[in-house]
Amino acid sequence: MFSGNLLIILLVLVAFCALTVYRIVMDIRKKSKCPADRDLKNAVLGFAARRGADHENIISHLGMCEKCRKKVSDLNQADSSK
Ligand SMILES: [Zn+2]
Repeated sequence: MFSGNLLIILLVLVAFCALTVYRIVMDIRKKSKCPADRDLKNAVLGFAARRGADHENIISHLGMCEKCRKKVSDLNQADSSK
């Protein structure tokens, strides 16, 4: 019976580790996925005002995505030309 209990504990540990890894991977995927133009704009315009989880994700995404940085500067230019 002891080895049966040990197996269950081992399975729980493995499941927990898998869940942790899954969460980390999902978090990275969420950050590496390009946000919508509107979300990008909102995050940049409300840079100092808003401090939500999405905002943090978008700002850290901007740090690693050149495509979105370009998009943001295009959006800013479009705004200032109005
Ligand atoms: Zn991006």
